[in-house]
Amino acid sequence: MRLTSAARLPRSTSALADLVHHLKGRIVVFTGAGMSAPSGLPTFRGKGGLYEGTQVEELATPEGFNRDPDKVWRWYAERIDQVLKAKPNDGHHALAAWATFAEKLTLITSNVDDLHQRAGSDPVYRLHGDILSASCVSCGNRTRWSETPTDTPTCSCGALMRPDVVWFGEMPSAAAFEAVQENLPTAQLVVEVGVSGAVSYGFSEAALEAGLPLVRINKESSPIDEHCMPLHGSADEVLPMLVHAAASF
Ligand SMILES: [Zn+2]
Repeated sequence: MRLTSAARLPRSTSALADLVHHLKGRIVVFTGAGMSAPSGLPTFRGKGGLYEGTQVEELATPEGFNRDPDKVWRWYAERIDQVLKAKPNDGHHALAAWATFAEKLTLITSNVDDLHQRAGSDPVYRLHGDILSASCVSCGNRTRWSETPTDTPTCSCGALMRPDVVWFGEMPSAAAFEAVQENLPTAQLVVEVGVSGAVSYGFSEAALEAGLPLVRINKESSPIDEHCMPLHGSADEVLPMLVHAAASF
């Protein structure tokens, strides 16, 4: 269904009234790459990225890892280095602050960095795992990076370690999906921040189908904008404004 521009205004006005009413209620927030981009972290699944002549998408697969674990680890070491050096931006801080006065704020992210956690959000449900963690492919022994790994890491049992991230062809976190299933039906407001369609899992569409007001914060527009409240801009600029407005009602 496409709404005409004439139909859009009354719909937006009523959505705005709902929004104001629910800013301190039960909120579900989905964040994606656009959340961490203002912190200097490039998008993970951008099309067309090359690393040592290989499509980045091919490195983030179990097959790619089995083929050339050293190359995969060189790529992840660069990513880990970027995450360790990055700092949470004003958007991360705004979301952590929002949780302190909302009735309940459930935060679900497809990002594998720890910037939400460092800003003070807790819990953070991570669909795609944690890039600062690695586990043994044989015994499951875990390690956590506080410094960038310089070599392909191996476990004390002798087997390879792999990054604790969800690769293409693997299942996203069940706990994160359960958090969505548990909290979306009772949510009063859903906010999507910097999420690209490819990794959205249809959460926002489900929210719209359930009749929930949806705020979509993104630098780029989307067909879904006609059915929600789009706020076009960078997460580190738009979120502080929204949360400031929420605090003042
Ligand atoms: Zn092991």
